[in-house]
Amino acid sequence: MTHYSVWSLIKGGLTGQKNWTRAWRDPEPKSSYDVIIIGGGGHGLATAHYLAKLHGVTNVAVLEKGWLGGGNVGRNTTIVRSNYLLDANAHFYEHSLKLWEGLSDDLNYNVMFSQRAVINLAHSKPQLDGFARRGNAMLLNGIDAELLDRDGVQAMVPYFDYSESARFPIYGGLMQRRGGSARHDAVAWGYARSADARGVDLIQNCEVTGFRIEDGRVLGVETTRGFIGAQKVGMAVAGHTSHVAAMAGLNRLPIESHKLQAMVSEGLKPLINQVYTFGAGHFYISQSDKGGLVYGGDLDGYNSYAQRGNYPLIEHVHAAGMALMPSLGRLRLTRHWAGVMDMSMDGSPIIGMTPIEGLYLNAGWCYGGFKATPASGWCFAHTIAQNRPHALNEAFTLNRFETGAQIDERGAGPIPGAH
Ligand SMILES: Cc1cc2nc3c(=O)[nH]c(=O)nc-3n(C[C@H](O)[C@H](O)[C@H](O)COP(=O)(O)OP(=O)(O)OC[C@H]3O[C@@H](n4cnc5c(N)ncnc54)[C@H](O)[C@@H]3O)c2cc1C
Repeated sequence: MTHYSVWSLIKGGLTGQKNWTRAWRDPEPKSSYDVIIIGGGGHGLATAHYLAKLHGVTNVAVLEKGWLGGGNVGRNTTIVRSNYLLDANAHFYEHSLKLWEGLSDDLNYNVMFSQRAVINLAHSKPQLDGFARRGNAMLLNGIDAELLDRDGVQAMVPYFDYSESARFPIYGGLMQRRGGSARHDAVAWGYARSADARGVDLIQNCEVTGFRIEDGRVLGVETTRGFIGAQKVGMAVAGHTSHVAAMAGLNRLPIESHKLQAMVSEGLKPLINQVYTFGAGHFYISQSDKGGLVYGGDLDGYNSYAQRGNYPLIEHVHAAGMALMPSLGRLRLTRHWAGVMDMSMDGSPIIGMTPIEGLYLNAGWCYGGFKATPASGWCFAHTIAQNRPHALNEAFTLNRFETGAQIDERGAGPIPGAH
């Protein structure tokens, strides 16, 4: 495999670009593997990478029904942060942020991780107090946080509506400087390339259609390319979790699938240098390196597996956006799409064991699973290889919904659309 470096670029330039090899192989599935991961999104591919790299488990296949990176990992707005209040989330997402900080080197692939700061805007004094509390909790957990007043926000981005008569006046914000964004599909491709180089088989156009389970133990999966045996099977299918888990008899997972849409404007000169979230209107915005404003808002509000956008949400998101930044209304929308979110009942993920021996579950990412990709793969690989969770994911069990140990960051209750 070509090692990507400035030297390989120069060599390619001098030799007619003949030095590049395929980023990953296209193998036929073997009859069985030690581990099968279902889902070639960010989490499945990261799991394969860490299984091979950290645990020496290389007889692994990732089965993807479409193409690698065609799901949410290639459809999200790429906000990366670890600004959580509750300990379980704070430690997990901070581990993820630390992995992000070294990811391009680890994968030898430029994931364009840009620590441009994430700022949550406050629209009332009580909300600013709440942010101060969360910021203090973050600092106590060793995570960077800064509280900004209105002038502090305005100095960074002058284009918002700072008037007293704004629909939601801006009182300040909570900033995490180490937060930012990354290039979504590069994350999938980087993990894929690294896993493949370590011997993992990445098998595209291979949909899992059933499980073979005997005496409470998984023996393998039925697929559109035949039966494939496995000692262990990990599910990392995000928005399709309920559907795939039901094939294994796990019929009542605490997850609902909802659509979330993203939008990109025409390209502009640098305008918004940080990532902003506007909770009062439910709108968030950043600017890509190509210049387009990248933004989104609410879920569609009904359950769906459709990966397409629609006009009512375009109107809804722009109404929210223009309440914050009126000049947005003068831009052209150039691209628009949707992804399918696995919304859990407390807004936190599930990474762990299932009642079926050898079957593991990675799900419940709601609309924040992109930033979790490195830690999710890291913890899921540990759980599968060691057959027990790591301390970082031991709270994210499936049975917390039975025992009442929910991790409800927003205190919104069991209403998935509210997380
Ligand atoms: C519009 C939008 C904006 C978002 N913004 C952010 C953000 O700013 N920050 C953030 O952290 N998160 C964000 N997210 C959430 C994030 O994208 C997801 O939580 C995360 O990508 C989910 O994990 P994944 O990458 O593994 O999922 P996916 O990429 O969806 O991977 C799952 C894979 O499983 C495959 N699959 C499904 N069923 C089967 C089957 N039967 N057999 C084989 N394969 C199967 C699918 O084809 C898919 O490729 C956003 C999501 C959307 C849609």
